Amino acid sequence: MVKKVDKSEEEWKAELSPDQYQILRQKGTERPFTGQYWDNHEAGTYRCAGCGTELFSSDTKYDSGSGWPSFYAPTDPDHVKTEADSSHGMRRTEVLCGACNAHLGHLFPDGPRPTGMRYCINSASLTFVKGGGHGGHASESTTGRD
Ligand code: FE
Repeated sequence: MVKKVDKSEEEWKAELSPDQYQILRQKGTERPFTGQYWDNHEAGTYRCAGCGTELFSSDTKYDSGSGWPSFYAPTDPDHVKTEADSSHGMRRTEVLCGACNAHLGHLFPDGPRPTGMRYCINSASLTFVKGGGHGGHASESTTGRD
């Protein structure tokens, strides 16, 4: 089980940049092709920008053409969760951090093999840690602030 992170909105507001707060805690979406990672091809691990939990690996990242970082699977299914999202007049599946409940993006059934799924994730929700191999849980601060 992933260790749960529970902070007040005031704590999140103090820790995150305004953009990150808007996306992670208020379910915002960055504009496509504007984020830090949609075109990142380096090997490494993508962690939650809010709590540092390992979410995705460059091994499952692919170019979806959407302008957002896209992955066909999470590193550990226990580290992300999904919920039905009917906002903005659409029926979508929201992807959240399994540890801190941060909004990450949405899940669509148009991804590549082997899963056929596309985890369409905001760059602002992620902190990229360069390097091969899967680390454990982040103990250092990886809030992704500039
Ligand atoms: Fe998190």
